[in-house]
Amino acid sequence: MNNKYLNLIQCIFSIILFLLLITVSANSRSRFYELKRSEKIMDTVFTITIYSDLPETAEKAAAKAFSEIKRIESKLDIYNKNSELSKLNKNGTLLSPSRDLFVNIEKSLYYSDLSNGAFDITVQPILDLYKKSFSERNSPPTDEMIIKQLKKVDYKNIKINNNKITIGRGQRLTLGGIAKGYAVEKAVEILKACNIKMALVDAGGNIRALGKKPDGVWNIAIRDPRNKNNYITIIPLENNAVSTSGDYERFFNPDKKFHHIINPKTGYSAIELISATIVADNAFDADAASTTVFVLGKTKGMGLIESLPNVEGLIITKERDICRSSGFKESKQ
Ligand code: ADP
Ligand code: MG
Repeated sequence: MNNKYLNLIQCIFSIILFLLLITVSANSRSRFYELKRSEKIMDTVFTITIYSDLPETAEKAAAKAFSEIKRIESKLDIYNKNSELSKLNKNGTLLSPSRDLFVNIEKSLYYSDLSNGAFDITVQPILDLYKKSFSERNSPPTDEMIIKQLKKVDYKNIKINNNKITIGRGQRLTLGGIAKGYAVEKAVEILKACNIKMALVDAGGNIRALGKKPDGVWNIAIRDPRNKNNYITIIPLENNAVSTSGDYERFFNPDKKFHHIINPKTGYSAIELISATIVADNAFDADAASTTVFVLGKTKGMGLIESLPNVEGLIITKERDICRSSGFKESKQ
């Protein structure tokens, strides 16, 4: 066979290969079924998105993941009077705590030590005081009232081992700054066990990606804390998590001076930042760290982020300075 024919055959093969590749890549994008479900649990909206080539598997996996989130809510929610956490708050002691309660308190204490008490789950009496004061008198509590409740705030009075948890006199715990991240992480574990490879679980800004989307990484918009129709940036997620704490979701008065994230040293809401976003390898740590950094403020907060391996962050001060940690990744826009 002469060279001319060889070239022609080679050329035909290349064209066939090219066409085959195009078809395969088009199919890999379109053959996935997209499932998106939302449910209101733990006082927020949980949304699960799954891409799978098996619709039934995806449906079953999502149902199991939602059951897991509800199971966790039934243990850790203080608005449910029968939850384990409510019982601990009421009785001051709890025998044979579940693994869920144990690991949440254990990790909370880790972040308390790490932040010199900026993260402190004993702040619930202060939140109860705000709630009472604004609902009954539509005005903030007095300094005296705050000082009185502040005496109950100190994570060092929590004693924990596998058999028993005790809290100090008059103390009440809240896991609002950490438990949603835990539930997101546990939901992802369930999805993995159901053989799901591409999913996103979002609990009101506590977001965890499992793998990628069929067409690439997950792109997550970080909301402008003062304009919900605007975003600050977009970040890529792939097998990791992002969590944002802000003063804009839950507040007691319109100027947001009294909102749901408390500085345990003062008894007043933390006001140096208006939002703190943390990217970490899992949602449990991202959630706890974002609340911690929100309380710590710009300098100490950024210092903490830089000191933690595999943790990045973006924080916005009330003067609207936007600060990014050294390895903070953004999607090309
Ligand atoms: P969100 O719950 O809106 O996602 P966060 O993750 O920042 O926001 O958690 C805020 C919740 O954390 C509060 O509602 C309260 O239950 C709890 N919390 C408030 N201040 C502190 C604090 N200093 N340390 C630990 N938890 C806190
Ligand atoms: Mg948090």
